[in-house]
Amino acid sequence: MSRATTATIHIQALQHNLSQVRALAPHSKVMAVVKADGYGHGLERVARALEGADAFGVAALSDAERLRAAGLSQRIVLLSGIDDASDLPAIRRLGVDTVVHHDSQLALLQQDTETDPIRVWLKLDTGMHRLGFPVERAETIYTQLKMMPNVHGDITLMTHFASSDEFAGAQTISQLKQFTHSTQYLSGPHSLSNSAAILGWPEAHQDWVRAGGALYGLSVVEGKTGADFGLKPAMSLSTKLIAINHIKKGESIGYSATWQCPEDMPVGVAAIGYGDGYPRHASVGTPVLINGVRVPIIGRVSMDLMTLDLRGFPDAKVGDDVLLWGTDLPVEIIAKAAGSISYELTCSITRRVRFIEA
Ligand SMILES: *Cc1c(COP(=O)(O)O)cnc(C)c1O
Repeated sequence: MSRATTATIHIQALQHNLSQVRALAPHSKVMAVVKADGYGHGLERVARALEGADAFGVAALSDAERLRAAGLSQRIVLLSGIDDASDLPAIRRLGVDTVVHHDSQLALLQQDTETDPIRVWLKLDTGMHRLGFPVERAETIYTQLKMMPNVHGDITLMTHFASSDEFAGAQTISQLKQFTHSTQYLSGPHSLSNSAAILGWPEAHQDWVRAGGALYGLSVVEGKTGADFGLKPAMSLSTKLIAINHIKKGESIGYSATWQCPEDMPVGVAAIGYGDGYPRHASVGTPVLINGVRVPIIGRVSMDLMTLDLRGFPDAKVGDDVLLWGTDLPVEIIAKAAGSISYELTCSITRRVRFIEA
């Protein structure tokens, strides 16, 4: 039998989540953010499922290449923009929009001798302090771009929120204000909202929302799962139980003997570990579901395997399905137990895991 570790991607969940985003932001166009291989769900698979989106957002030009090769003709936005002059021919050939966030990118556009106009998204830094021009320079940069013959006249204005997952947070209010103020004399569509802002900041929806996590059914809002917002998980990660051993009271389990059996007890072994992308830092007590019953992880997660306390489910059998996260076991719970966020967990699934669609 081949290794049972499987990521099942729920195509209908992706489509449901896109409808949910549209219902939440009914007056906005939707950019489906598919960077990092569609948050680990598979770039082409996700893009085909979400072909109803108005655009795709990618972090690498190679992803745009893959989307076009898959026959997708939607707008594609390169979210961190061009890195050097050699990107320009590819941008034109693939018909990709590019974010402009830095003087180095303005210089590349200025030195460009082609005239076929490129569509740009001008990114302003309203407080995230990662990518973007200072808001004080918004008008100057906008005017510069407008005058370039190789830049399309329809310039989208964008910014990115640092803490939109806090639905009453002062930082988002401040970022919104700075964006509105600095763009008041500039024409062009506005794009501010990531998933958390789609869920919690309707005033920030405006012309284009940029949905990533929400489309995969993921939440980054503290204490909330995707399901709490009417989203459905797009990934179920599963494997099988490959051994059940009866271990004596006082014996320890796994590497570094971090867990001792408080009594004679059955210990299950599931065929998944950090080599598959399951977080090694998942703490003792992190749940898995065996045939719908929750049982806790004991000992350390190792590369290929994890050990489970079966005292609460003595009927478990070798060969039983083990669900690590997905429908009925929100990935947010596992992420919290591992000191991470749901996005990182789905992005971390490795190549040896079999992907199937359902
Ligand atoms: C990744 C990304 C998004 C999507 O964020 P989510 O929280 O996944 O919705 C939106 N905009 C930009 C610029 C991004 O890099």
